[in-house]
Amino acid sequence: MTEINVITPKVEEQKARCPYCSFELEKTPTRKQKCKSCGKEFLARTHYLTKNKILLTEKEASIYDEQKDKYYVDKSLIDGLKGYINIDSNEVDNLVEKTQEELNAKFGKVASFKIMKIEGV
Ligand SMILES: [Zn+2]
Repeated sequence: MTEINVITPKVEEQKARCPYCSFELEKTPTRKQKCKSCGKEFLARTHYLTKNKILLTEKEASIYDEQKDKYYVDKSLIDGLKGYINIDSNEVDNLVEKTQEELNAKFGKVASFKIMKIEGV
């Protein structure tokens, strides 16, 4: 099992690499592109949390897109709850943050929407 490193440093600050063969790319691709080295197609995304450019294999991209959708569903769920219980939205954000901190302490790792696991990559 491989974890996609979604908190990658900004590609602009380092050389972008092909997600298949790690071939160093001259320019940071902004869309789907074929690797000059291995000939495989990879996709470019702007990460929804970090706003960093990330390069993904097709398989990773489909998982990433699902994760992104889930994140926004979760987020709108929380935003919806804010309206329902009619309390200060900052208070809800603090509660979410506090709960995450408690979970982090409990499990010894970061609890968040942004952890992505991929089977068999
Ligand atoms: Zn390649």
